Amino acid sequence: MTWMRDTVLIDGRWQRCPAVTAVENPATGEVVGQAAAATVADVDDGVRAAYAAGVNWGRTTGEQRGKALGELAEALRTRRDELVAATVAEVGAPIAVAEESHVDLAIEIIESFAAIARDTPLIERVGNSVLLRRPAGVVACITPWNYPLYQLAAKVGAALAAGCTTVLKPAELTPITTYLFCDAVLETSLPAGVVNLVPGSGSVVGPALTEHPDVAVVSFTGSTVVGRQVGRTAGELIKRACLELGGKSASVILEDADIAAAVFATVDSAMLNSGQTCSAWTRMLVPRSRYGEAVQLAATRANALVVGDPTDRGTDLGPVVSLKQRLSILAAVNGAVDRGATIVAGGPDPLPGLVGHFVRPTVLCGVERGDPVTTEEIFGPVLVVEAYEDVEDAIALANGTDYGLAGAVWSGDVDRALDVAGRLETGQVDINGAKFNPLAPFGGWKLSGLGRELGTVGIEEFTEWTAVQL
Ligand code: NAP
Ligand code: MG
Repeated sequence: MTWMRDTVLIDGRWQRCPAVTAVENPATGEVVGQAAAATVADVDDGVRAAYAAGVNWGRTTGEQRGKALGELAEALRTRRDELVAATVAEVGAPIAVAEESHVDLAIEIIESFAAIARDTPLIERVGNSVLLRRPAGVVACITPWNYPLYQLAAKVGAALAAGCTTVLKPAELTPITTYLFCDAVLETSLPAGVVNLVPGSGSVVGPALTEHPDVAVVSFTGSTVVGRQVGRTAGELIKRACLELGGKSASVILEDADIAAAVFATVDSAMLNSGQTCSAWTRMLVPRSRYGEAVQLAATRANALVVGDPTDRGTDLGPVVSLKQRLSILAAVNGAVDRGATIVAGGPDPLPGLVGHFVRPTVLCGVERGDPVTTEEIFGPVLVVEAYEDVEDAIALANGTDYGLAGAVWSGDVDRALDVAGRLETGQVDINGAKFNPLAPFGGWKLSGLGRELGTVGIEEFTEWTAVQL
């Protein structure tokens, strides 16, 4: 299956673009699609359309927004198979991961915003004031390649629920699912111009969106380097930037935990989506007395993971997204080894018989405290095991990076785990493998970003308040 698109979506109409960019399947190297390379003029058209559509969309009721979002969830569900196939083809995610963590989760997020839109009052009273919850305006949604559909759903769902209109800029590597999302939008009663699409290069479309005077909020997910640029520009223009950046999250295993369960789940988290998950637990912190045991368990789990064809249901890890990403991951692993790390599973050797950008699920141990492999995001299937002396030390180690997006605590005593969770400088902590909650705020401390996505808190990012005193 291939997806050859060459259009931007402006005010409900597809418009041809002269320039296109090819999309590669990272498992095979084959071209599986193409997308328009939008220009600055296209961005301007998209933002103007969104701004104009915002006049009416911004005055809809929560009920109307909820209804339209419900239709969108339904339209996405009817094209689930194609969304899954496109996710496998453009991201390289194994089919089971594409189904559960990319597509079904994205639909669930849109549904959650449909419900929140219906239930959230647009007018509240405080003392002698009437508080009007109003849409902030046009939201630029700039998304990365690791979970393209999910990240889009988190932004667009919240923006539309808030009464905002949107202009979408998917990553150049993975634009196909965003096209399919827009196909779904066009089947709903959402008015023309509420969702506009301008795919293209980050260096052209990104700044054109961020700098556009009619863009009120930039909702960005991606690297800290680009996030800084977006934040700088937004600061200059006094507009809002929601930044969802990287992570280096710790899984803290306390000595009273079920160690095998904790280690296995930590390895699985580190390797999910070939390690290209911003909230992955990429550091495993274990008591020094259990270090050898934990390292062995981690190696066993990592070695059991099947790497290969993402269209095969038996595959646990597909390729990483690009050659550039693969080389950057291998450089991080080789650097750690040069500084004395031991590879206990995986490593930099190529996988025989595979032509795509594959990386072995890798577990490292024996690194010095503060080694870059324990503090810098790798964004690949690499887990580092670190030993701590006592709980205070574990907390200090966990907090010892510039990031703070996610984390885990494992303990036989939930109160003890909660106490540790409350001392981690991070946006999300899962205790004993608790499941993801799409209604809970998601976002980071420190260099992991600004603002939160998902749930009612996610909608606040796209809300302006007008307080009217009576
Ligand atoms: P990126 O360059 O930050 O890309 C994210 C998005 O921003 C893409 O749509 C990109 O477009 C766009 N962009 C690029 N330059 C821009 C600019 N000046 N202004 C506005 N938008 C711009 O991230 P990446 O290159 O895809 O990945 C690099 C690293 O980022 C990864 O290794 C990983 O560490 C981190 N990352 C984090 C997340 C996360 O979920 N937090 C996700 C992906 C990557 P183009 O695709 O066209 O460049
Ligand atoms: Mg980039």
